[in-house]
Amino acid sequence: RIISAAPASPQEEAVERALRPQKLADYIGQAKVREQLDIFMGAARKRGEALDHVLLFGPPGLGKTTLAHIIAHEMGVNLRSTSGPVLERAGDLAALLTNLERGDVLFIDEIHRLSPVVEEILYPALEDYQIDIMIGEGPAARSVKIDLQPFTLVGATTRAGMLTNPLRDRFGIVSRLEFYTTEELTTIVQRSAHLLQAGIERDGALEIARRSRGTPRIANRLLRRVRDYAEVRADGRITIDVADAALKMLDVDPLGFDVMDRKLLEAIIHRFGGGPVGLDNLAAAIGEERDTIEDVIEPFLIQHGYVQRTPRGRIASAATYAHLGLAPPQSGRD
Ligand code: ADP
Repeated sequence: RIISAAPASPQEEAVERALRPQKLADYIGQAKVREQLDIFMGAARKRGEALDHVLLFGPPGLGKTTLAHIIAHEMGVNLRSTSGPVLERAGDLAALLTNLERGDVLFIDEIHRLSPVVEEILYPALEDYQIDIMIGEGPAARSVKIDLQPFTLVGATTRAGMLTNPLRDRFGIVSRLEFYTTEELTTIVQRSAHLLQAGIERDGALEIARRSRGTPRIANRLLRRVRDYAEVRADGRITIDVADAALKMLDVDPLGFDVMDRKLLEAIIHRFGGGPVGLDNLAAAIGEERDTIEDVIEPFLIQHGYVQRTPRGRIASAATYAHLGLAPPQSGRD
């Protein structure tokens, strides 16, 4: 998929790295999170302490990894990066933790997918900068305590509700990232265009921003595709007309909905009479994982009122019918 919010290839990840702001001052939007971090980092620096552990949650592509890098940069420490599913054994995490230097940032993406044995190791590490590891096997086995350097864990997850309570309780700073406004995304697109040395007009940037589902990763991805189009089909400059034509070609509709969004909305309407439909039935109907629907596709649609989540299932709204050019169902439905 051109537009899914997850990074697609190693090549794309390299481009993302290049577009990543390195300082908090260059991080656009998320004013509340930025202000909080600015204060907490300033205080920790003043006291010469490691920053408290930080949990970042929100849909993919909103800037969690970027923030982890910024924290390390601003605190003047190293960043070590891993993810929940990669840490299979307790020893994997122990090795990472014992290699941290004073104040370092350990970034764990998809932290809700840590295995329980690995999570157990993490608790004392977060609380007392200590780990207990077992040495040997059977009756000769014994537990050894190892002291760690003070460090900051930055955990990222798509949904805070998926963390176990004891893990969530160990984060001193919990921040929720929000979808970006069109204005903020316009600034991000202009900044990225500048870094990519692409000529862009403000209206062109605005058009891309409007159709990026509130998500910087998608905005940057669309920008690169629109730039290709501008180079081949026009004189290279990204005007509003060039952006519009390119986005049409990419099947990104005026609201930024992509193929999967439309598939989901159409399934609710055509196959389930507008809903309510349960998540499992919806997943089966469109051939996607439940998690993908909940973490990637749905949040934006819900936030903008195109899908409503009710105890009995998902419902399409009047705005959805209007957007798809369909007549709304007769009233009388509850
Ligand atoms: P996540 O970890 O939440 O999936 P990332 O941090 O990898 O998202 O961000 C994806 C891309 O979006 C990065 O290339 C980054 O440059 C860009 N980006 C994210 N947030 C911002 C922001 N606030 N300002 C500018 N660019 C951003």
